[in-house]
Amino acid sequence: MYNKITLLGNAQDAGRPQAGCTQKCCEDARKDYHLLRNPVSLGLHGDSFGIVEITKSLTSQLSMVGNPELSEVWLTHAHLGHIEGLGQLGKEALNSREIKLRCSESVMEYILKHPIWEKLIDRKNILFSKFGTNSIIPLKVPHRSKDFDTHAFLLKGKNNVLFIPDHDSWSETLEFVGHKNPLDWFNDIEANIVLLDGTFWDKRELKNRNQANVPHPTVNETLELVGEKNEEDPRIVFIHLNHTNPLHYPNSAESLKVKQMGWEVGVEGMEFEI
Ligand SMILES: [Zn+2]
Ligand SMILES: [Zn+2]
Ligand SMILES: [Zn+2]
Repeated sequence: MYNKITLLGNAQDAGRPQAGCTQKCCEDARKDYHLLRNPVSLGLHGDSFGIVEITKSLTSQLSMVGNPELSEVWLTHAHLGHIEGLGQLGKEALNSREIKLRCSESVMEYILKHPIWEKLIDRKNILFSKFGTNSIIPLKVPHRSKDFDTHAFLLKGKNNVLFIPDHDSWSETLEFVGHKNPLDWFNDIEANIVLLDGTFWDKRELKNRNQANVPHPTVNETLELVGEKNEEDPRIVFIHLNHTNPLHYPNSAESLKVKQMGWEVGVEGMEFEI
């Protein structure tokens, strides 16, 4: 059983700075290491220690919480940024012993297709384990991939925390879960803290790529849907921030707008009781 969550990273899969980015967003982070950000991951504390997502920053993310022994890894989906730390469990690194890997069947099949990850199974570094417990409930959400499905997690306890780092659009997700507004969905599943996909601030953020190929609801759009926070509303904490997202700057107009409306931007090291 877990009783506390630590936010071990608030950035999108590639972190900040991102390889090859010479814009201000990443040049700033190269000049000042305080601005480095890890890809999204959660530390789960309790009788044992688990994580949600296993990123390329695993080593420093475990260090953030005192390097506890890892007992299980939960995966929302298998986009590289969410699984690339798996290699650190192998014999060249941690050489773990039967760490439980909790993921959907299609994610498991996808992982098994790759010789590098398959070795981890052969060598018993990891062991596929049941996806879903009484207190961690996977909820399927639409997110681009032909190869595997994507889930959000509802972590239940004193607080019910919904973790949803990646989904394609509110129209698809809301239709899929049968609600008209994100808040109706959050209330229906009794989530009082929501760690929510905040990848992009708006639709003009990617300069060198077609942003339509990287679908995520923008924070701007989410704010329009949820409006200002009412007392009974859950906390919404935006996470999975792309390197280009102005929410990386706590004093930006965009960060101030989120705060003024009563919502929050995820900060690494943030803790939530469950
Ligand atoms: Zn992602
Ligand atoms: Zn950048
Ligand atoms: Zn993804």
